Amino acid sequence: PSKEYEVLRRRIYSNTKEFWYYVNSGLESLNKSMIGVERIHKIKNNVGEHFRSLLKDISGLAEVDNYSKWRQQESESLSILVQSRLEEIQNPPNWFTARQLVCKMEKLCGFGCQLHHIVYCFIVAYSTQRMLVLDYDKYWRYGDVWPNIFLPLGDTTTLLKNISVVEWPGNQNSQIVHLPPIDYIHPRPYFLPQMIPADLAPRLTVLHGDPIVWWIGQILKYMLRPQLSTIHILDDYANKLKFQKPIVGVHIRRTDKINTEASLHTLDEYMIHVEEYYKQKELSGNVSRKRIYLATDEQTLFDEAKRNYPEYEIIGSDDISKTASVKNRNSKEALIGIIVDIHFLSLSDHLVCTFSSQLCRVAYEIMNSLYPDASSRFTSLDDIYYFGGQEHRINEAVLPHKADGPGEIDLQVEDQIFVAGNHWNGYSKGKNLRTGLLGLYPTFKVTI
Ligand code: GDP
Repeated sequence: PSKEYEVLRRRIYSNTKEFWYYVNSGLESLNKSMIGVERIHKIKNNVGEHFRSLLKDISGLAEVDNYSKWRQQESESLSILVQSRLEEIQNPPNWFTARQLVCKMEKLCGFGCQLHHIVYCFIVAYSTQRMLVLDYDKYWRYGDVWPNIFLPLGDTTTLLKNISVVEWPGNQNSQIVHLPPIDYIHPRPYFLPQMIPADLAPRLTVLHGDPIVWWIGQILKYMLRPQLSTIHILDDYANKLKFQKPIVGVHIRRTDKINTEASLHTLDEYMIHVEEYYKQKELSGNVSRKRIYLATDEQTLFDEAKRNYPEYEIIGSDDISKTASVKNRNSKEALIGIIVDIHFLSLSDHLVCTFSSQLCRVAYEIMNSLYPDASSRFTSLDDIYYFGGQEHRINEAVLPHKADGPGEIDLQVEDQIFVAGNHWNGYSKGKNLRTGLLGLYPTFKVTI
């Protein structure tokens, strides 16, 4: 190891102790009653500083451990491998005899949801070594404009004529198999998310903090290869909006989502995390300008952000936001708007959003195809990362836990936990498969 690595490692060790000394004595002083609000405020600030300093040093380890170049090369080499495999599947030597998987665009839902439907179809196509054919129908509102915006997914997106289509799963000899949506697939294959390709797993689990996100990011990378004209549109927007770093992507999903699939979060709730990002960043040098890229279907948020956060440069387009409102979503402009928003959110240094929104999950997945490992470049105000229709995320207990309060559950080392969610307060909720009990446990006691 380098000298810098060893020095930093020791610094983190001793400062973790310092952190504890401070928290412990701070809490002791709380005991001594009559403690003023000011003192509590001071303790909270100091705890924040300790925390940021530790986080800075831990991130710094990755810069001095001599592996940065390896991470970059490994992620590029894995990406080239996966992209060429997808290209091969989509371009069989003879597509009249090629085995096909038909993915009907039969889901009536938003862009993120439709993209995830295609990702699912791609995973099945990859795993069964069939060429994926998209069968557009009336529910696929982007069919007309898609070919103008993205490169075609192979030689053809037309179904072979005069060959009967067999329902999933078919067999080795069925030339064309129709795949139902993920919610209805039966029998259910083992290779759906959270699974990743077995032969890549040993490398991916070393490289990446959440390999499933990397894998999905790679499929999106293939699906969303832009036409030249799209690259121009995105470049024009980058100039017009003056997109530059550092920047935090903020996606605020409102309108039809609220109280149906998600709860409302105020702008301030998002901005607390943006502030935290910049406080952290300031430790490593001056931040000349704090910026956010704002994407939202609630147009009024642009004014609110400018009014309440004058120290921020607010980048984004309220014209795009107008096209995001429910009544305008079917237009070509709306599609361009979504693509622009997803593009800049994924290019941001950090994302603050609600993972209940498919649009933000898409941005995060693409972000993970742009960095060797962007698995900690997000703050979700609600759900943990998931893929709709996935198998449960399973975490393993690495420390024992004795239930100590209402709603808590016991853990033994090696217990398997079905994770329901993170409460973002140090506790997660999940079901212990050994005891069958559902409840809360400290998040740090399980693997991530
Ligand atoms: P979800 O409903 O948030 O889970 O995500 P979907 O992508 O499936 O559907 C949301 C739809 O709302 C998108 O297809 C867009 O039409 C629109 N939308 C929501 N938020 C935004 C945004 O920030 N920018 C743009 N351009 N459109 C948005």
